[in-house]
Amino acid sequence: MYSVVNTATVLGIDAKLITVEADISEGMPLFEMVGYLSSEVREAKERVRAALKNQGYALPVKRITVNLSPANIRKTGSGFDLPIAVAILSAIGIIPEESLRDVCVIGEISLDGSIQPVNGILPMALEASENGFKKVIVPKNNLVEARLVNNIEIIGLNNLRDVIEYLTYGQYIAQEVTERVEEENIEESLYDFSMINGQPGLRRACEVAVAGMHNMLMVGPPGAGKSMVAKCIPSILPPMSKKDQLELTKIYSVCGKFDERKGLIKNRPFRSPHHTVSEQGLTGGGQNPKPGEISLAHGGVLFLDELTEFRKTTLEILRQPMEDKKVSISRVNGSFTYPADFMLVAAMNPCNCGYYPNLNKCHCTRAQIQRYIGKLSQPLLDRIDITVDAPQLSYSQISSKEKNESSREIRARIEKCHMLQAERYKDYDFSNNSHIPSSLMEKFCHLGPEEEKYMKEMYEENDLTARTYYKTLKVARTIADLEESIDIKISHLQEAFAYRGLVKKYWEEHI
Ligand SMILES: [Zn+2]
Repeated sequence: MYSVVNTATVLGIDAKLITVEADISEGMPLFEMVGYLSSEVREAKERVRAALKNQGYALPVKRITVNLSPANIRKTGSGFDLPIAVAILSAIGIIPEESLRDVCVIGEISLDGSIQPVNGILPMALEASENGFKKVIVPKNNLVEARLVNNIEIIGLNNLRDVIEYLTYGQYIAQEVTERVEEENIEESLYDFSMINGQPGLRRACEVAVAGMHNMLMVGPPGAGKSMVAKCIPSILPPMSKKDQLELTKIYSVCGKFDERKGLIKNRPFRSPHHTVSEQGLTGGGQNPKPGEISLAHGGVLFLDELTEFRKTTLEILRQPMEDKKVSISRVNGSFTYPADFMLVAAMNPCNCGYYPNLNKCHCTRAQIQRYIGKLSQPLLDRIDITVDAPQLSYSQISSKEKNESSREIRARIEKCHMLQAERYKDYDFSNNSHIPSSLMEKFCHLGPEEEKYMKEMYEENDLTARTYYKTLKVARTIADLEESIDIKISHLQEAFAYRGLVKKYWEEHI
């Protein structure tokens, strides 16, 4: 009496197929489970036993062995309950063996036999579809999510009895799922750049930053509207490709953050974790590994308000993922990666009181200011392409009745710029100017003789590092692209250099 059931488990943001074998033989009554199991998978034994009993199926008084393979993958999560129950029911002859051939079974079971939703249904259903399965049985509450996968029949069921009935007679109560209307339009954001009075420099910096997905830092006194400007950024983010939408949705699925009402995530994310966030919360990991904020911001924006309030160690941990565009999580049995290609937008005050260099209001000492801005380390600062002043607004700016440019108008220019970059980098594994590797700088950021001369002067005058030099060129590339200029001109380089102004002001020239 032996049977096999197929299921899947999540690894990173992808899934792997797992086979559940059940064998029932004569001998001492015993229920044994093997196959590199985590403690929660071991607990499945008790849930399955109770659920079967409560549905009227007593376990035979025999030796029951359940094996989950391949043995080299550690099995975590509660999604194995249902396949284990089905394997046992098939081994004792209740579910016909042939009905299990092309089916993948996933779900957690409660003691009463009802089936509970699990995290990561999307990657698991995708894996089943890619491996040629015809059907996947999932918890009914995961149905909408699983149905994002094409080419495979998704059956959502509520309890163990329904599963038995379906696998035995091929019948189940048709699912009433309200099909959502596919909306291609970007969800309108609550905040719009038309609400921002004044701040022309800040507005422009946001446009350039988003156009090339450059990391950006705003420095200014409290009340200058830094957070407000950051909140407007989602309204100018360009659309994502279908492939990126699916990848992002997988990240949310693995975290258990899939939103049924929204379905496939179409908008680029905007995440703003509080400064008390833990390192694990930011980068991911944990006992049952989950992606962190930087992965939830994949393809979009990670906004760190009050940057200097974050623990220094928390900020330093961002350096590697900012470079690699992904984060590696190490486990005893190997490691896996979560994508983390985010654009960092950060905001901070220039000093403890927040008003430097307004010496009427700021009485901080030099040492205090240096200590304050020193919370942001040079290596992290090196990874920020654009720094910009957020000055206090004057009365006339606040009360101005002039109509401000709306996010829709800004977004139109940005979309154009993104399309241009997508076309230019279509043969490479990056798609934005901020990601041009140094080996391709000459190809994509080529300078004419005049511009070359200008850069040489600036390089020597400002004592630049190679990193800063490349960074400036990449920003200039974006500025040229916004103007639809093939060549990078001196005016583009000048503007790009202007975005280094704050670094000079605060970090390089000692106050
Ligand atoms: Zn101060």
